[in-house]
Amino acid sequence: MLDSAISARPEIADKRLVRSFAYVGGRWVAAASGATFRVTDPATGQELGQVASLSAGESGAAVDAAQAAFPDWAHRLPQDRAALLRRWFELIVAHRDDLARIMVLEQGKPLSEALGEIDYGAGFVEFYAEEARRPNIEGVTSHLPDAEVEVWREPVGVAALITPWNFPMAMLTRKAGAALAAGCTVVCHPSAETPFSALALAELAERAGLPAGVFNVVTGKAATVVEPWTADPRVRALSFTGSTEVGRLLYRQSAATVKRLVMELGGHAPVLVFADADMGNAVAETMKAKWATTGQDCLGANRIYVERPVYADFCRRFVQATAALTLGPGMEDPDLGPLMNERAVAKQEEHVADALARGARLACGGRRSPLGPLFYEPTVLTDVPEDALILHEETFGPVAAILPFDTEDEVTARANATEYGLVAYLHTQDPRRIYRLSRALQFGMVAVNRTKVTGAPVPFGGMKQSGLGREGSRHGLEEFTEIKYICRDWA
Ligand code: NAD
Repeated sequence: MLDSAISARPEIADKRLVRSFAYVGGRWVAAASGATFRVTDPATGQELGQVASLSAGESGAAVDAAQAAFPDWAHRLPQDRAALLRRWFELIVAHRDDLARIMVLEQGKPLSEALGEIDYGAGFVEFYAEEARRPNIEGVTSHLPDAEVEVWREPVGVAALITPWNFPMAMLTRKAGAALAAGCTVVCHPSAETPFSALALAELAERAGLPAGVFNVVTGKAATVVEPWTADPRVRALSFTGSTEVGRLLYRQSAATVKRLVMELGGHAPVLVFADADMGNAVAETMKAKWATTGQDCLGANRIYVERPVYADFCRRFVQATAALTLGPGMEDPDLGPLMNERAVAKQEEHVADALARGARLACGGRRSPLGPLFYEPTVLTDVPEDALILHEETFGPVAAILPFDTEDEVTARANATEYGLVAYLHTQDPRRIYRLSRALQFGMVAVNRTKVTGAPVPFGGMKQSGLGREGSRHGLEEFTEIKYICRDWA
């Protein structure tokens, strides 16, 4: 095992959860070349450890392992798969505190948000442990004389799961829970910024007794690890969460082998606040939609449209609440933590400078914090003009853009004028407007008078270029299955 500073951290009780090798075929493996990459704490810039950087050939070997394990896993009785998933869920819950602390160290998010992510992420393993038992055969009334017809759902085969750094645990369990319950075996690639959370999950999967080769985690350079998977015809499904740009690339790469794809891509969430909304609730919920995960959230509120009669009041309350937010290292459990990397901070600076140059007003923040190079103050821009970059690109950080609107038709058109379609937030007390806008907004999820709407039993996913397919719920499991139609004649 490679030495790592993170395993020496006093906050982590169970040191065996800290793994620096990839997990392939039930073994912890280093790169034969000895190659590693460095993982740092975004709050301090200090090195947390070196993690194995596998070659393309070694990444391909993970598919060999997953393919070898597939027939046995696919044909196990559903209740046996369910029991193993259940055991994995129980271990995740039992190690909740350590898993959250590992996440805070590598990702930077506030401790209570990390604990919330462990609970949210564990929920998918629990839900799919239960779903794994449900019968998956549809009886269909025959349309042919003397024939019986049935529709089966079979596991698609080896599935490749690729996850981002902003939710290093939940994005993986949301995919892996569904794929494993369906009877697929998986090869997973976590972001190089946050590999320790995925490796800790692999350690717990091993303790839960998942058979060798069923759950593999391959660390290293993204293109080196993932390209052998997109090219491999044995990988029958690819489930990706990340940017739309990388999603398009993996879509192209997967075309040659016609893989089944699930893509959870970028978002550019609008918030629509009407004058008839409960203003206290609208402000409080929009605060959550903007500042959770320090703004580094695909569901993050990127554009806050407020109806003109309540615009000044909303801005005043939102700025006042924002000014009271705390910023600091995630372990101290502030409201906001550091950003993930220098690119993320540079993007905040670019969006703020661009909006101000076009005539927006800076209501608070607007600069890096003296806490460290990756800390950016929560920033509110008001009167943001429609051509500002922040209204068209994902900001993915702690900058809020607020602007007024006059009519429902106008704000609906502005909200929909984007290539993204992940989530939209609506604040109003008019039931007819709720109905009209729930239909008119071109987003995979519409949240009305609240922010938190996601969870294991409901489908998560976007329209347009925010993605393909759904995660969570029964739909998330079906993404990892093939339909087989059987027609029987007893002649
Ligand atoms: P990213 O696209 O840069 O990386 C995501 C994953 O893809 C990582 O594992 C990375 O290692 C891998 N990757 C990067 N380049 C690759 C390449 N050339 N070939 C193969 N794999 C590659 O995204 P990120 O910066 O880690 O995450 C932020 C993005 O993720 C945002 O756009 C955000 O909206 C999106 N996101 C979407 C959801 C959702 O459910 N829709 C959830 C979280 C994050």
